[in-house]
Parts: sequence; structure tokens; C-alpha cells
Amino acid sequence: MTTLETPDQPITRSGYVAIIGRPNVGKSTLLNRLVKAKVSITSGKPQTTRHRILGLQEAHGTQFAFIDTPGYQTKQTGALNKVLNRTVRQVLPDADVIVLVCETHQWTKGDDELLTLLPTNKPVVLALNKVDEHKNLAVQMQMAAAVSAKFAFSEVMPISGEKGQGVDALMQTLAKYLPEGGRLYEADQLSDRGDKFLAAEVIREKLFRLTGDELPYTSTVVIEDYVEEGRLKKIRATILVQRDAHKAMILGAEGAKIKRIASESRVDLEKMFDCKVYLEVWIKVKSGWADSEASLRAYGYE
Ligand code: GDP
Ligand code: MG
Repeated sequence: MTTLETPDQPITRSGYVAIIGRPNVGKSTLLNRLVKAKVSITSGKPQTTRHRILGLQEAHGTQFAFIDTPGYQTKQTGALNKVLNRTVRQVLPDADVIVLVCETHQWTKGDDELLTLLPTNKPVVLALNKVDEHKNLAVQMQMAAAVSAKFAFSEVMPISGEKGQGVDALMQTLAKYLPEGGRLYEADQLSDRGDKFLAAEVIREKLFRLTGDELPYTSTVVIEDYVEEGRLKKIRATILVQRDAHKAMILGAEGAKIKRIASESRVDLEKMFDCKVYLEVWIKVKSGWADSEASLRAYGYE
């Protein structure tokens, strides 16, 4: 993993910033921008983020511990969504400040639902995201006013997690709300997840990005073998799906799709780990893996 630059300012504040919001508003993209590295996977599909992901960064004399969360689901039910929503709720009590991310051009019922989860005894900053795509200032102001009437946000800030607009201003604002104190984590630490977890996540990202809509909900990635030999990592991964038909979709014609998933994953992993990666990806049908909380726990969903 890459290490962070040595900070030029002593650390006098530190704390946890929870990033929450409905699916697809850009939480994980924002986290990666905030920590200047890829620690959380992103795609245009809901349920991409399935775990609580910690990303660390130091700036403005502050060590930020950002926590990315799964998108809060209001429509879908089922064991996986139950577990994902619980992850969101569990993060809130530990946070010193909360960033609620929404899209600047539309406020939905799902956003309203999130307001009911927010604590009233800690600062909540509303980030109006994707201003690069939806540039109309009048719409942004209208949105800020309308939403401010619904909840007493500490601040409302327009940002673009993808392009970086307003992100440093957001950090500067968040720093004010974090308690005084020294580092909570090592200075050069980037995340609390190991390389094996990251490897599985990167493969899942490619799977999400390269397949149609019905697949993501029914698939996950398990690392079967992870061996380091000097400057080479040998990784064997399995994509678990619920049905034979799903397996065929991931394989693609003459195995073209799985090859692409594997090769795009390998390129990303070599960049992230700064070493050579030998990657094998297999597909296994295992019906019901996501149907019960017990089997979800077995696959690493807390
Ligand atoms: P999450 O589900 O909230 O974590 O959202 P992701 O970070 O996975 O992003 C969802 C989709 O929104 C992806 O297709 C991103 O490329 C896109 N996106 C995220 N942030 C921005 C942004 O600032 N501007 C634009 N135009 N798109 C964004
Ligand atoms: Mg996400």
C-alpha cells in the first residue's frame, strides 16, 4: 500500500467522521477523494459498499478517521439489506461528526428516511454532492434551503467527490467539529483493512461494473488463497453466485467477461500493492449464500 506524506503540521485534533447517505449518492467516491487513495470500491449500482470502511487522512493539523458505510436501503428487504442497514446505524454512535451525503439535484424519500436516523446531539454536515454534473446554482441554493428547513444541519456544503470541488473546504469544516487530541492511528496508516480484504473488494468492484443489473445482489467474492513470494502476490479468488444462469452471465461468451474482470482487477491490484500480482478468478454456484444472517456472517458480513 502507498503511505501518506509526512504531515507538516503537528496533529492537535482527531476523531471519527461517519459518511452516510442513500445508495449511489457518491459516499465511497468521496471517501477515496478525502484520503487520496482507493480504500472503498465504487460503481453505479446500489449495494456496492457492503462493509464499514475506514479511511485515514491528516490535514489542517487533524487526523481524520472517515467511515464509509453501505447505502441505506429503504425499498429492498432481505437478510443482506438488513445487515447493511444495521452497519449504518451502528456507525453513528461512534462518530464525532456525521456527513450526510445527498445529490444536489434531487432529494428523495430515501433521503428523508435518513433524516430520521440522525442524532440531534452531534454535528451533522450536509454535503450536496455531484455539483460538477448539476451546476445550476439556483437549484443548489433552493435545495440547501429546503433541506435546512427539515433538519438543523451544522453546515450545508456543495461538493464534488469525483472532481474534488469543495472537498478541502469540507475537511477544514469537519476539523472544527473534531475533539482536541493526538493521533488515533499510526501516521502512515491508510485503512484498518488488510490487503486480502482489499483484493476481494477490487474484484467485486469489477464484477459490479462489468455485469448487468440483476447480478450484484446475488454475488460476492471470497479469497481462497493468498500467497506472497517476494515482490509477487499469488491470489486465487472465487465469485459466489446463487444460480447457474448467473455463472453463465459472469463467464460471458467463451469466458470473455470473467477474463476481463480478472485482468482489470489485476491491473488495479498491481497499482494498489505496487507489486506483481498473479490472479486466478473462479466462479462457484452456491444457492442461498445471502439468504440468512448466519451464512452472511460466514462470508464476513458482520
Ligand atoms: P455510494 O453508493 O454512495 O458509495 O456511491 P459511489 O461512490 O459508489 O458512486 C455512485 C455513482 O455516482 C458512481 O457512478 C460515481 O461515479 C458517481 N459519482 C460519485 N461522486 C460523483 C460526483 O461528485 N460527481 C458525479 N458527476 N458523479 C459522481
Ligand atoms: Mg459506496
